Amino acid sequence: MIPVEIPPNTVMLKGISWDSNIYLVRDGNEALIIDTGTGTYWNRYVEVWEGYLREIKRAVIFSTHEHFDHVGGNPAFKRWLEGKGIEVLFAAHETTARVLERGDDYIILSYAYGRKFEPQEIDIKLGDGDTLRIGNLRLELIHTPGHTAGSSCLYLDGEVRLMFTGDTVFKGTVGRTDLPTGSEWKLQESLEKLMEFDVDFGLPGHGWAIKEWKDNISGILGWL
Ligand SMILES: [Zn+2]
Repeated sequence: MIPVEIPPNTVMLKGISWDSNIYLVRDGNEALIIDTGTGTYWNRYVEVWEGYLREIKRAVIFSTHEHFDHVGGNPAFKRWLEGKGIEVLFAAHETTARVLERGDDYIILSYAYGRKFEPQEIDIKLGDGDTLRIGNLRLELIHTPGHTAGSSCLYLDGEVRLMFTGDTVFKGTVGRTDLPTGSEWKLQESLEKLMEFDVDFGLPGHGWAIKEWKDNISGILGWL
């Protein structure tokens, strides 16, 4: 597992097999983990985090949406971090939070992986435009329904402007809209909303970074 560093404060781990990519953003003694994969390979990821988390006292695990390949590792990551004396909070858009708190296997798609999602309390429930604070960093939640009703992106307007996109937009394509709570026209609206942001790197839930942010989205809108 080779971490991809995106200076000044972000690290990407490419998901193994069906797992989502997993991101770590650090500032001071606080960390943000974005998505956790299915949980099958959690120990392979935390092995890498070990070196990055030395000073960390508090970690927020943010779920970009409610699919199992992005949230299945939440309990294992939490246990591991707490074992290191790190306080752990879960965060998500309020719609995703409701699904995770119900443990709705139909929407979460856990059954497709032969697994069950244990209902999970979400400590920080966010709406569109709300801010997530990590150390001195402020990340803005952009609600981008379409792939699922709760799908959201996180925008970090820093030295390098990053957009964590989950399964809303990838390099050259978008997330499926035929799964429970998906909607093609909402996805289209969400892409139009995302076009307004100035982004140096789009960091998706699967695949590699998106470099030409606006060209990538306008290309997709052209054939959607
Ligand atoms: Zn998904």
